[in-house]
Amino acid sequence: MTFKFRAKPTKTQEHWLFSELRHQKQLQNYMLQMRNQMWDYGHISVSMYDQINHLKDLRAATSHYSDHPQDMQVSTIKRVNAAHEHFQRRCREGTEKKGYPRYKSSVCSLSWSLRKHKLKTGERVRQNPIRETGTRHNRLKVPKLGEVKIRQHRPIVGDPKEVTLKKTARGWYVFIVCEVPDTLKCVPKSACGVDVGTHDFLTTSDGEKIPNPRFYRQAERKLVKLHRDLSRKTYQSKRWYKAKDALAKQADIVACQRLDFLAKTTYKLFHHRGFDAVVAEKLKPSNMVKNRHLAKSISDASWGMFFDWCHWVAKRDGKHFHQVPPHQTSQTCSECCQKSAIKLKLSERVFHCQFCGLKLDRDHNAALNILHRAACALRGEVWDTILCETRNQLLQLACWG
Ligand SMILES: [Zn+2]
Repeated sequence: MTFKFRAKPTKTQEHWLFSELRHQKQLQNYMLQMRNQMWDYGHISVSMYDQINHLKDLRAATSHYSDHPQDMQVSTIKRVNAAHEHFQRRCREGTEKKGYPRYKSSVCSLSWSLRKHKLKTGERVRQNPIRETGTRHNRLKVPKLGEVKIRQHRPIVGDPKEVTLKKTARGWYVFIVCEVPDTLKCVPKSACGVDVGTHDFLTTSDGEKIPNPRFYRQAERKLVKLHRDLSRKTYQSKRWYKAKDALAKQADIVACQRLDFLAKTTYKLFHHRGFDAVVAEKLKPSNMVKNRHLAKSISDASWGMFFDWCHWVAKRDGKHFHQVPPHQTSQTCSECCQKSAIKLKLSERVFHCQFCGLKLDRDHNAALNILHRAACALRGEVWDTILCETRNQLLQLACWG
């Protein structure tokens, strides 16, 4: 579980943090270069421990390395190790492009792991990185820098393991990763099917609709203006940097609004509506955005992130989240399971069944189908679309005959 708080370093602290970011960038590129050269020389893999030992020698030899916190340097080496292991896997498998890990022109985050300390009782615990002050702002302990002001708006839960300080367009943020024990899964008593769309953000199988806020569309005019301002400035001039910051801030605002909406919607489904299980379609937004007429709306709706949030909240609170195959959910009748003979266009918002005469909102019908499909999967049955399709074909033949 990760907790995110706003950090407020002073001017001097910020200066130190920027110099630290530059140092970590240099170290990362140096360690990556070492690995790449050895790999090109004869597919020799340098291990993470070799590099940590090399770092120890460097720290003993020169103050250029020993002036900086060792924990942050080790985290950087771990990051390089993860990137290179993925690269080696791609080389071994040969199924995709191998893609060398890239050298960075800048890094924007500093991470460090929290070490375990032995108590007098013999128990080994990690030190809490936050010092409580009893005032509006608590303090975050940063190695070699001291204490940085943070706005801790809620208490952290679990055992803190790793801390990351990140610079974004709107300031500094701290992320604290905590280890929490797994929550037991509840026995599902109520379930809900969810159909996501661009018209309404989602429709539940009870017929409830949550409108799509369209944050990007709302801010689009502002963003277009800021892009235009940036393009009219001389590249890398003072005004260019100023315009670039303004644009990044606006983009960050849109991203935050979206995240806030998704988190609240997910919480609403599981807790306010009290559903123990939520079922959605297994969509692939990355493929769907290839449709250039809908790309912007699909990206703005951010379904992928919504599914991720459902997954995390269900895992955290002991609820259930499932995804079912999406084919033909909006073209099939939820009452008689027959597939519509005429393809329903995206502009047609009402589903009308030719077989049983059911008239229902298009998305509500799809949400019911999703729920049925999950219920079938739970019983170990395969949903009978194919069966219905054959039946429809036979019926049509009978009609024409
Ligand atoms: Zn029907």
